[in-house]
Amino acid sequence: MSAQIIDGKAFAADLRTRIAGEVARLRAATGRAPGLAVVLVGEDPASSVYVRSKGKATIAAGMLSFEHRLPADVSQDTLLALVARLNADPTVDGILVQLPLPRGLDESAIITAIDPDKDVDGFHPVNAGRLATGLPGFVPCTPLGCVMLLKSVLGDLSGKDAVVIGRSNIVGKPMAQLLIAESCTVTVAHSRTRDLKAVVARADIVVAAVGRAQMVRADWIKPGATVIDVGINRTEAGLVGDVDFADVAGVAGAITPVPGGVGPMTIAVLLRNTVVSAARRDGFAVDL
Ligand code: NDP
Repeated sequence: MSAQIIDGKAFAADLRTRIAGEVARLRAATGRAPGLAVVLVGEDPASSVYVRSKGKATIAAGMLSFEHRLPADVSQDTLLALVARLNADPTVDGILVQLPLPRGLDESAIITAIDPDKDVDGFHPVNAGRLATGLPGFVPCTPLGCVMLLKSVLGDLSGKDAVVIGRSNIVGKPMAQLLIAESCTVTVAHSRTRDLKAVVARADIVVAAVGRAQMVRADWIKPGATVIDVGINRTEAGLVGDVDFADVAGVAGAITPVPGGVGPMTIAVLLRNTVVSAARRDGFAVDL
């Protein structure tokens, strides 16, 4: 058997086209375009690349991009003052502080200072609580993108056995919450899980968010299962996921590649969240 390859790049491109359409509609109705403010502290090369791609994608969707670059030795108070300014700025619908922050800055205090209704990354504890209790809010972009991909291949997820490997606040935990909301039976595995192979073998849906190159092997996978690989690992052979793609693709029913699977969804969903924020603030409904 050979798995269907889930084309995240194509899905994300289609989502971005739909986003641009909704931006145009909002603009026509309100006279303003949604705005996303991205804050980058320091000069971490990977973070700089992400911030640049986010800015470009924001502008390509017809939205406003506000980039704020601060030196690595910026004080906590200066950063908090910037967040307060962005919270109060009516042209800003979404605020994203690029993580990780340099040492000496209190990441949790900065995230908590963002207005939850502009927290398009969905990392604020209020948004984590809203997700856990089924209230509307913002959901972290990567797991929301994973659910969109899952629904694109499986349709209704209700009743499926799902195993999420990883329990981070930005991927594993919100992923599990989203799958519960889709009526899956969810198991969350992590570094202390006993017999991970046997746990994964039960799953109709496997989401790997670990950060260990090609850890998930073909003999862990139930034939026909859908496998979503969130991992991004740089190896001598190039970029690989947490799943041994070549072998698992021979057993799974559908699988995301790395690159070209989950990765492209993250920025597309960030734009989506920003448009949703603008629409909510202006009292409109968008279909994204
Ligand atoms: P974290 O390092 O925060 O979390 C990793 C999780 O994996 C932890 O819960 C950890 O368990 C668990 N884990 C570690 N080793 C094992 C093991 N041997 N067996 C089972 N579980 C294990 O990572 P993130 O959640 O932030 O990211 C996960 C991966 O996804 C990374 O490769 C990252 O680069 C990628 N990523 C990709 C994105 C994209 O856009 N495609 C966006 C965000 C992340 P414990 O809690 O017990 O330590």
